[in-house]
Amino acid sequence: MPRPLVALIDLAAMRSNLAVARTAMPDAKIWAVVKADAYGHGLQNALRGFDGADGLSLIEFEAAVRLREMGWVKPIMMLEGLFDPSDLTLADHHRLQLVVHCSEQLAMLAHATVTNPVDVHLKINTGMNRLGFAPDQVPEVYERLRAMKAVNNIDLMTHFANADLGTEARLPVATQLARFKAASQRIEAALEDGLTIAASLANSAATLLHGELHSAWIRPGVMLYGGAAGSAPAASFGLVPAMQLQSSLIAVQHIAAGEVVGYGSLFVADQAMRVGVVACGYADGYPRHAPTGTPVLVDGVRTRIIGRVSMDMITVDLGPVPLAAYGSPVTLWGNGLAIDEVANAAGTIGYELMCAVAPRVKRQVIS
Ligand SMILES: *Cc1c(COP(=O)(O)O)cnc(C)c1O
Repeated sequence: MPRPLVALIDLAAMRSNLAVARTAMPDAKIWAVVKADAYGHGLQNALRGFDGADGLSLIEFEAAVRLREMGWVKPIMMLEGLFDPSDLTLADHHRLQLVVHCSEQLAMLAHATVTNPVDVHLKINTGMNRLGFAPDQVPEVYERLRAMKAVNNIDLMTHFANADLGTEARLPVATQLARFKAASQRIEAALEDGLTIAASLANSAATLLHGELHSAWIRPGVMLYGGAAGSAPAASFGLVPAMQLQSSLIAVQHIAAGEVVGYGSLFVADQAMRVGVVACGYADGYPRHAPTGTPVLVDGVRTRIIGRVSMDMITVDLGPVPLAAYGSPVTLWGNGLAIDEVANAAGTIGYELMCAVAPRVKRQVIS
């Protein structure tokens, strides 16, 4: 028997979440973000679940090449562009579009010879101060790219720091948007009459919460997997979990009042109780910092983990589930228990939990 822990990947949920993004920004094309092995869901599964997307975007060149080998023919965008001049060979050969965010990348492109000029996305730093050119550099960078033989189409992009917040944010969306517009208008003013430049602006939070952002493309990630992009629950937007992290009980202990459970004996029973042992631990990606009280479903019934998460096991309170026994199904997150609830209990975000699901956990496609 294989270990019972499995990540069930629901392709229908992915399609349905993609439809939520379409409805939220009806005029925009969608770059479905599939970096980090599709947020832990598996690249091949993403390729199927997001077959209705207009393009896929990610960070890792090896993964982009695999997407082509698996038959993805629509656009692919590399969100951090070139790391090294050798990446350009891959971009050329596999028709990968490149973000250009720094002068070093400009130099790589300027010196390149390619068979087919690449499409690029000029990234503007509108205040997040990670990647991108300062707004006042952008018209000049745009002209330099236009003059390069290795470059074909040029789109613009930026990224919001606080799309999940309102005007109380230290750097509100409106501030970044104003800087973006000012820069893009300066370029457009220098172009032939009436030309506008396509842009991609919105991540998941911006897609769901900032309908005022109009751009040719959006770049949703976490929402497509059914994760929350801010403090509002994903379900409140009609999003459904694309992953069920499922296991079962591999042991049941009956303990007396005063007995302790697990490493460090952090949990002390205040009465006689039954403790379930779940085949899932931090080596599987379950957060080690999840404290006693973190929710978990046993036989579909909500209960709590108790004691310290260990490498391969979690212990749970079977008080609310008197009929639970060896083999009873356990949901670590998924339907009935949002990944974000578990993440909040552990002091992190759903994004991190999705991405952390370890390679030893089998991804199994449902629907
Ligand atoms: C990861 C990423 C996204 C997707 O963000 P979500 O919050 O998961 O929607 C969009 N744009 C860029 C540049 C990214 O790196």
